[in-house]
Order: sequence, then structure tokens, then C-alpha cells
Amino acid sequence: MADVGSESNPLRVAIIGSGPAGFYTVSNFARHKDLSVEVDMYDRLATPFGLVRGGVAPDHQKDKSVTRAYDKSAQKPNFRFYGNVAYGDDVTLDDLKAHYHQVIFTSGAPNDRNLAIPGEDLAGSHSATEFVAWYNGHPDFASRDFDLSQKSVAVIGIGNVAVDVARILCRTDEELRATDMADYAIDALRDSSVEDVYMFGRRGPAQAAFTPPEIKELGELIDADVIITEDEATLDPHSSAEMERVPDKNVTKNVETVQELAQRKPEGRRKRLHIRFLTSPTELIADDTGRVSAIRIVRNEAYAADDGSVRSRATDQEEVIPVGLVFRSVGYLGKALPEIPFHESWGTILNEAGRVVDADGNPLTGLYTAGWIKRGPSGVIGTNKTCAQETVNCMVEDMQAGKLLEPAAPEPEAAAEMVAAKQPQRISYADWSKLDSAELANGEAQGRPRVKFTKLADMLTELGR
Ligand code: NAP
Repeated sequence: MADVGSESNPLRVAIIGSGPAGFYTVSNFARHKDLSVEVDMYDRLATPFGLVRGGVAPDHQKDKSVTRAYDKSAQKPNFRFYGNVAYGDDVTLDDLKAHYHQVIFTSGAPNDRNLAIPGEDLAGSHSATEFVAWYNGHPDFASRDFDLSQKSVAVIGIGNVAVDVARILCRTDEELRATDMADYAIDALRDSSVEDVYMFGRRGPAQAAFTPPEIKELGELIDADVIITEDEATLDPHSSAEMERVPDKNVTKNVETVQELAQRKPEGRRKRLHIRFLTSPTELIADDTGRVSAIRIVRNEAYAADDGSVRSRATDQEEVIPVGLVFRSVGYLGKALPEIPFHESWGTILNEAGRVVDADGNPLTGLYTAGWIKRGPSGVIGTNKTCAQETVNCMVEDMQAGKLLEPAAPEPEAAAEMVAAKQPQRISYADWSKLDSAELANGEAQGRPRVKFTKLADMLTELGR
């Protein structure tokens, strides 16, 4: 048998997860022109593209245009998609080892971090992850219910996800109707009584995790006044010193925008978006029925830590703000995968440069990882390109060194038979293309980018099954 990676004996790779890291794995392999690779991509969902479909905000359609490049990769003859096939439930590690030389996990970070404060689990307190997945039509979240009859809502955290949530809560019905947001969410948000949205950042404007275009966009909302106090927009001495010591143009732009917003006078718009800095939630308070009715926050002060970074610590000043709905947006967290070594508190697969390792740091032959499940939930979509490149370089290097799994049946047809036996309702890329066309056509009829299927049963019906 010719060497693995040759035309007569292609390298067989299974990719678990069809988000950006999965697709950048495919495109990075394509850069190795002398290498013959056959790729099978698995996803537990019927639809591909991970957070680009289920996470990127519906009013940020431009960010979704990356799927055009993913689609090109997927149309190549050496690519197969097995949607609605869950690693761990439908296929096991042993199944994959029987059919592939290498397996790469690109399953992202679907869970959310906790706040660890009393009342966190009260009715009316949700993770931003759930809300985002719900309004984006993720089938696992389509039947969730959020009490949008509340007038005041808290969003905890000031990263870009928190900004997405706050912005969506403040958009007009007309704006949302022009997006691919799930219809049930558009209707629920139209009927919402939300008037005041509070975002809470535990540090100051110079340490905010949002990026300049995102904070600027909040100042352009047509239905909401942004309210920031001058006091909280003013830099503490540690932050000013840090900005001088380590100039960063994003930090400068963020601070300028925050200070400009703080100068504005409210114009009597229908909603108010309050952005609070140097404040930490300490408790969610329940009403008589056990639902969240208020949030207790403590004012923080900034200090310079030993490593030079600016951190915050609590003062003795507290406030209680009435809110009936809370979205915790303090970062995503990876989820352990069966049989794969995992670092619980980091929420990442144990790995070195993308090679999966055991607890002693020894590489596990043929197993790799890329994306958020490799490095944690940070960076923009494009960050996954370089992340996947690092892993693919390791995969090619290991292949050249002969460090591969030894599949008994590496032919693509054998894997196809295995999947068909395990999950008769698998979705191929051709199936997805039909669903995609139907979504686009339904969208066009309504002057929207697409109208999403939000239930697997509806997708199967569309496919005539
Ligand atoms: P993130 O950027 O890590 O932000 C997390 C926020 O939660 C920070 O403000 C953090 O404050 C705060 N936080 C953490 N623990 C907290 C606690 N115990 N109490 C109070 N606040 C706490 O995470 P993310 O917003 O989930 O975004 C994930 C990644 O996706 C980021 O890289 C983001 O830029 C990216 N993303 C990008 C876009 C876009 O490009 N438009 C949209 C969405 C997401 P500290 O800084 O003090 O820790």
C-alpha cells in the first residue's frame, strides 16, 4: 500500500464540529497541494456552520458571509458532511478509529461560565448563551421561554456577546424583521415590555471586553438612549497609567467612545441602555413567587495587580436595582467530550499546539483539536484560521512521521455505511444545500436574508423524509 497521503491512499480525517474551526481545518489541508486528503465532517446538528449560524447576531449578516468560503470547501469531492450525527451518542471514538487516520475535535464551547452568586439559578435568570441560541433559531433552544413582559433587564458582562444581547433587546421590530432571526423570537421581542437594559462591567472602560465597532453601534441605536455616568466613564489613575505604558488602539477607541456617550443627553427614546462600569453583581433577589425581582451590585475600585494588569475589587458601596430578567454573559465554556482528556476549569481539551495529550502531557496518536475547544472562547471568527493552521501543521508533520491511527476500513464508503447504520437520519451536504435553498427562498419572499428551519422534523419533511 502506498504511503498515507498519496492519491492511491489518501489521508482520512474526521472533523467533529462544523463551525469555523472545522471549516478552517479543511481549508488549511487544501493548502498542502501535494497531499491527498479525504475529509468527513460530523455535526450533532443537522445544519453546518456552528456559531456562524447559531451565535453571530442576526443583525450582523455581513459577519456570516464567511460561509461562502466554507461552502466552497464543502463542494469539493473529497468532502463529506454528516449532519445530525452526534459524537459520543451516534458514533464513538472506536467507530472513528476504525475508519480514519486522524480525528480532530472542533466542537466549540457550548456551555456558559457561572457567576457563583446567590440567586443565580432563580426563575428569570438565564445565560446569554440560551437567549442567543433561542433568537438564532437553534433547534435545542427553540422552545425556551423568556419573560419579556419585564420592564427592566440586566445583562452581566461587557463582552461582545453581552453587547449583542443588549442591542437585540433594544432594536425596533422593523429592524429585527429585516433579519434571519427566528420568527418566534421576532414576535416575542415585538411584544416585549423592556424599557431599561442595564449592562454591568466589573472593571472600567479601559478594560472592557467589547470591541470598538460594537460599542460604537450601541450609540447608533434608533430606539434607545445610551446612558453612562461621567463618573464611571472617567479613567482611574491605574488605567490611565496602563494606557500610557501599553498603548492599544482598540482600548483608546473604546474609551473615547464611552466618554463621548457619557456626554450625551438622553433624547427621550423609548428604551434606555445603561452601561455601568466598576460594578459587580453580588446577589439576585427573588420576589414572593421565587422569580428574580432585583439585582444587588457592589461598586468596585480599580487597582494594579502584581503582573501590572488593572483589576477591580469591591468597595462597601452597594445598590439594589429592580430587574425582572437577567442574562449572564460572562463567557462561554467548553464541554467535555467522551473519552477525550479535558481540563474542567479551562473548559478545553488537553492539548499541545492542537495535539491531544493525556494528563502527563503525552500526545495521543491521531487525536487533535482546534478552535474554542482547543484554546478557550476568545477571538473573532478569523482567529480560528490561524488556530486550525497550527493544528493542521502538526497533523501533517505526524503523518509524515508515520504517527497515525491504523483504521481497519479507511475507505470513505466504509465510513458512510457505518454512519448510515448508526444514524439513518443523517444529513448530507447535498441535503443541507436543499435546506439552504428553501431557507433563502422563504427569506426572499419576505425581503429577509433567510427564514430558518428551527426544528429537525421540519427539515426532514422538507427533504421528503
Ligand atoms: P468575553 O469577551 O470574554 O467577555 C466576558 C465578559 O464577562 C467580560 O466583560 C468579563 O469581564 C466579564 N466577566 C467574567 N467573569 C465575570 C464575573 N464573575 N463577574 C462579572 N463580569 C465577569 O466573552 P464573550 O462576550 O462571551 O465573547 C466571547 C468571544 O466571542 C470574544 O472573543 C468576543 O469578542 C467574540 N465575539 C465577537 C463578536 C463580534 O465580533 N461582533 C460578537 C460576539 C462574540 P473581565 O474583562 O473583567 O474579565
